[in-house]
Formats: sequence, C-alpha cells, structure tokens
Amino acid sequence: MNKKDFSIRNGKLYSYLETKDYGEIVFGCPPGIVKEFLRLKKPLPSKYVIPSRTFCDNLNNFDFEFIVYSYLFTRAAGSSVSAYCLPEQEKRFRDILNETLFGPRFDQLLESQSNKLLNEKCLDAKDRKNLQIFLRKNVAKNKRISILFDNLLREHNTAPQISKQIQQFIQDKVLSKNQSILNSGIKNLSKKLTKIYLQCAQLQKEIDLFSLAKEKDRNSFISKTVKFHHIGKSNIYIFNGIQNKDKKLKIQEIEPGVFKVLEKKVERCTVNLNSIELKFKKKKGPKPIKAPFFGVTFVGVGSGFSHDKQNSSAVVWAEGKGILIDVVADSNSILSSYGINNNDVRHVFLTHVHSDHDAGVLENLLEKRKTNILTSRIIYESFLRKSQALTSLSKSSIEKYVKFIEVEPNKKIKVPGFKNTFFEFDYSLHSIPSGRCTITCKKGKTTKSIAHSGDTKYDTSKINAWYEKGIFTKSRKNGVLGFIWDSDLIIHDAGGGNLHTDYEALIHFNKKIKQKIILVHQNGKPYPKSQLRYAIDGETIALIK
Ligand SMILES: [Zn+2]
Ligand SMILES: [Zn+2]
Repeated sequence: MNKKDFSIRNGKLYSYLETKDYGEIVFGCPPGIVKEFLRLKKPLPSKYVIPSRTFCDNLNNFDFEFIVYSYLFTRAAGSSVSAYCLPEQEKRFRDILNETLFGPRFDQLLESQSNKLLNEKCLDAKDRKNLQIFLRKNVAKNKRISILFDNLLREHNTAPQISKQIQQFIQDKVLSKNQSILNSGIKNLSKKLTKIYLQCAQLQKEIDLFSLAKEKDRNSFISKTVKFHHIGKSNIYIFNGIQNKDKKLKIQEIEPGVFKVLEKKVERCTVNLNSIELKFKKKKGPKPIKAPFFGVTFVGVGSGFSHDKQNSSAVVWAEGKGILIDVVADSNSILSSYGINNNDVRHVFLTHVHSDHDAGVLENLLEKRKTNILTSRIIYESFLRKSQALTSLSKSSIEKYVKFIEVEPNKKIKVPGFKNTFFEFDYSLHSIPSGRCTITCKKGKTTKSIAHSGDTKYDTSKINAWYEKGIFTKSRKNGVLGFIWDSDLIIHDAGGGNLHTDYEALIHFNKKIKQKIILVHQNGKPYPKSQLRYAIDGETIALIK
C-alpha cells in the first residue's frame, strides 16, 4: 500500500479521509462543513460516518441539513448522499429532515395552534385527549373542509366571508356529529376552531408553494436523497471498493469519536475526532462594544451557502439589552469576537428551524444557559421536536432551559423584561413556518422601529399571481406584501433562489424605502452598482443613541 492511499485532513470537528479505492469519507458532520468545502473549492463528499456521540464540547456534530440541501438544490437531480449511522440515528435524522425540509404535518400545525383550546380550564385529562384525537381525525384529515376552504379562496371571498362559511361547516357537519366534544363545556367552540383552522390552513397553503413532496411521500423522498447504511453485527461499517467491489474497507468506532480503518485485517489508519476539538478553542474577544440605546449589530450577514460570510443573525439592542434574531452555530464565541457579552443577550427571536438559523439555540441549551425564546407556538413546537431528535433529550429537559414567550401574528406585545420595547410578529413566506418581526422602542419622545424580514420569498408579481390562483385571502396577500416597510430600518433577506428574495425584487420601491433597506442572508457577491445597502459582519447601526 502506498502511504497516499489513505490521507487524513482535519477540519473543525470533522475528519476527512481520502482513499484511493473507496473515495472520500467524512467523519462527523458539524454545521460549518458545507461552507468549508465551498471555501476549499472542493465538491462536497458523499459519504459521512456519524460518530455515536453527536455533540462534542456542546457543539453539534450531527448537522446533516445543509449537506442534504446541497445534494437537493445544487447537484444533478437524483444525486444522493450516504450516511453511515446507527438505526436510532437514522430515525433522528428523518425526524429532523421532516421538520426542516417539509415543516410540521397539518395535524401538528393544528395541534400547536390549538394549545390554548386544549388547556381550557373546563377540560379534564380525558376531555383533552378526546379533543386531541378529534382535531387529528375529524379536523386535520377532513377533506371536505379543505376543499371548501380551497374553493372559497379561489372565488376570492373576503376573510370574514370565508370565516363565516367555515364556521357554519364546522358547526353543522363536524361538531354536530361529535356530541362529547360539544358537551365538553368550551365556550364558542366552533368560532375558536374556525380561527385555528384558518390560521393553519392558510399557513399550509403557503408552505405548499415550496413543497418538495406530499405529506404521505415524505419518507420515501428522504430515502431517495439519503442512503442510510447501518453498522453491522460486529460494530463495523463496510465500504465496498469503487472500482473493485471485492475490496472492502472496514470502519470501526472503538471509542466515542475514535475510528479504526481496516482493510482485510490490516489497520490502515485511525481517525480521532476528539483530538481535533482542542485545536479550535475559542479566541478571546476584543474590548466590549458600546451598544446603542436602540439599534442593531450584525453578527452574520451570509446565507448557509455563502463560503465567505457567517450565517445571518443580528442583535437588536434596546434599553441596553439585546434581542438576538436567530442563533447561528457557535454563536457565543462569535458574539464575544465582536465584543458582545452573551449575558447582555438573553432574548432570542427564533424565525424558523433551518439550521443556519437555530443551530446555536441548542448550544445554549446544552451549556444550560436559559434562553427566552420569542416565536409562534407552531415554530416553537417544531423547534422542540427537532431539538429532541438532535439531542435525544426529553421535551421537559429541553424546556428547563427555555422560557417560551409566545407571539401571534399581528399582535404587538411588550417584550417581557423590557420597559419600552415592543414586538410584533407575522409569518413570512418560506418552505417551513417562518417568522418576521418589527421591534419598536421608545425613549422620551422618540419612537423608532426595526423590521426583519426573516427568510422570505418577496416577489410582488409571484405573490399577486399566487393570489389569483387562490393561495391567499386578499388581506393575507396584502399582509405578505406589507408589514415591514414602515419601519425605520428594514433588514431584508437577499438570498435569491426559490425560497429567498432576489435583489431585483426589491428595487421597485421608492427612494425613501430603499434607503431604509439593508440586506442580509447574502449569497454570492453584492449586486453590481447596488441601489440597496449590504450589511457587513460586525457593523452596528444606531437608531436611538
Ligand atoms: Zn430558511
Ligand atoms: Zn436561511
């Protein structure tokens, strides 16, 4: 054997084994891996060995999302990636991909949105169970309500007209056949159910615009993109030679994070993920930044595929404290590299559960740092399901380190822990439930606001065409097109592609609005002679000093 037949290169929390006969094999899959291969200008390898311990030093080594997105969105159709993992890890991967590729199922949306209803005082445990089953079987799976909703939208009925007809249907055709639910003592039940149903059905229609597979085909879709290989009886992964199928490479994890690589019975090399952790210890930060009374610091401005920029995240400063909009992987060390003390940033607005936005929330959780999470119930519950799959922790142990602050579309709330800072949430337009916000702050007679689009497809002509097809009510269409433009600073997605906003879609605005827009989630180079401003990593903008 030539020495070059097996060469190992170590990256941040992963090892990369190049072999002559078996191709390239990666050990571990930390969040930054896709960007790292883009930086190296190397195609992303297709074989990943997943260590049994999926968190090292509280950092995630189980982030398969962007590897899968790369294969789905940047490779030729039908390309697949291989994961060598334990059967329970495959299950966890599938749970994660279910949340992040497709979003919650419709019954999960309904159940999340019904949280208040399910916790009404008049219900005992048995009533609650009954109501849950009723929501799943009689409402979520009820084809007739969904057909009625589709027709009402296509005929461009107004929101109150749609609401009236759906309520009538629920009252006459659904509830009347379920006496036990009717007798449970909930006041205005049909009205409450209608509101819940319409919120979820509208959101589902929007998510379906970007859908990769029907609900029933989700698992087979995943199987086409990811080939799972399980460990054999003797705890060994077997790789066949690419040219010569008789050649066999055996990989055995001899202790967590340490792999022996054997050919026949000869040991070719050892891969040790534990020894590379230390090399990437956190650097000490510069001197503390001076935070404005109200303003923003950009922690990252790139998309998950931009090789030269951090993933997008921003601290909105208000009254001396920070609200972090999304938490990227390794967030605490990035914050301190900008002179931000993470104790000043205890609130997080979680826009959605794509890993370029939520990876760092888990790190805080594993470091047992309590985080106040502002988001909608639907997004929060999706995050809980994903976190359980990522960490194998129970829901209750995850919730110990999270204080959930529920926000609802178009209901302005005062942010708990702040005196004069207000938060308004609305759903954006993306492939899974995703949020945007406006944050308003008052100091004396001055009131200013900052809006963040979240990940969103903003495209007036597409949105108008979708309205014509019956995707939105008129009020929701206007909501999708509106909401953020009155703010004093508008932080906007410019990721392009199917799921994000193109630069060109924003230049029709008048000069006054264009001056207020600042672009994040940047992908590739800035638009030549741009009329809009691109945010820079680490820059701070003050609105109230
Ligand atoms: Zn996203
Ligand atoms: Zn994103």
